[in-house]
Amino acid sequence: MGQGLRPLPVLQNWDCHACGTCCKEYLVTLSPSERKVIEDQKWDDVNELGGYSPFRFSGWPWARRAHLNHRPDGSCVFLDPKGLCLIHKKHGYDTKPLPCRLFPWVLIPSGNRWQVGMRYACPSASENRGRPMAMHTPHLEAFALELEGREGLQIEDGAELTEAPSIQGEGRPSWLRFRSSVDQLAGFLKAFPNDIGAAMRAGLHWTSHLRETNLAPLDDSSFQELTNLFADLARGEITTANPAPKTPSWIARLLFRQLAALYTRKDHGPKRGIARQGPITRLNAIMRFSWGTGDIPRLHSWMPHNTFELGELPGSPLSETEQRDLHRYYMLKIISGQFCGRANHGLSLLDGFESLAMTLPVLLWIRRLAPPSESHQTLIRALSIVDDHFGYNKMLGTAVYRLMHRILGGRGEIDRLIRWYGRTSQ
Ligand code: SF4
Repeated sequence: MGQGLRPLPVLQNWDCHACGTCCKEYLVTLSPSERKVIEDQKWDDVNELGGYSPFRFSGWPWARRAHLNHRPDGSCVFLDPKGLCLIHKKHGYDTKPLPCRLFPWVLIPSGNRWQVGMRYACPSASENRGRPMAMHTPHLEAFALELEGREGLQIEDGAELTEAPSIQGEGRPSWLRFRSSVDQLAGFLKAFPNDIGAAMRAGLHWTSHLRETNLAPLDDSSFQELTNLFADLARGEITTANPAPKTPSWIARLLFRQLAALYTRKDHGPKRGIARQGPITRLNAIMRFSWGTGDIPRLHSWMPHNTFELGELPGSPLSETEQRDLHRYYMLKIISGQFCGRANHGLSLLDGFESLAMTLPVLLWIRRLAPPSESHQTLIRALSIVDDHFGYNKMLGTAVYRLMHRILGGRGEIDRLIRWYGRTSQ
């Protein structure tokens, strides 16, 4: 008997539109049984797979992991010229490996249930194209059951799948505490439905109050009372006098550009940028992101072509549709818990929220590089570009990038960067 699903209370639609992006960009790791299914299908390497073997391997000889093989252009060996999956075509959808069927959904353990999340790296997800999430529930329930077996997780009725992510970085809270903190963060998005910047900044104020408090000795009800109080305080701090945004410090802008470079980098797949052109091009790009002047190196071929100077000028106001798209994205990331714990390099709830909030100035910066007539389309692409890395790029989990977020968060610079890249007048 498997555990249940915790659906997303967000207006999220999706269907696969067979763009083939995921089959050209991601390395699929196979479980032993998935590998056996493909072996038993007896693929003819020469006549069906263009001369490539179905698998490639990684890791030490005693712990080798099998993956679906890729062609030199990065596409999966099972992707046919029409963009269709050969395994699906020849043997049926159910014989595809679980990661291929699951993408772009993400299932995250949440107490004794699975929380549904999603990757906006799939263009159909960022564009909100397809049927409502509820229509996918039967499939997701079946995936959850399969995943419990694949990951060797606890599947007894009512048992917790894993421990809750930490809140402040130490100790393991109860799931009750964790979920109530997630609800507080989601509450800021509800409190500021037409101002995503204010919503995320309120969340940052709340996290900074929590950082200054020792939560460990509190029982669950005092914890909830105190975090509610901090939420009221944070909302008040955002709605009271709001002077014009201060220019972020030079260190904040330098770190911002390093993060922007990482989030807009694409080294593989069809939309890859210039980073694969050789060490000199790479060095030049590093230098330019450090100085922040002149043309912005196009690390992703989807990036608008423009200069660093233009990125510092005020942008056009976000339209209602853009506000809605950003709210949908951040609500999804928060409610699903995709911003911390196992889903985001083991970060605590507070660190994870800061790293999520830091994606907002990056998105706003990318948007303002395009002409106002293309803002919405650019923002949707920017969501795909940034979410391709968020929670998945291993660099973001390293000590260096954690420290960068801590410096920015600790000095109130993420708040300032959101206001700076969200401003619409000098
Ligand atoms: S990226 Fe999304 S829309 Fe494109 S093939 Fe993959 S699941 Fe389908």
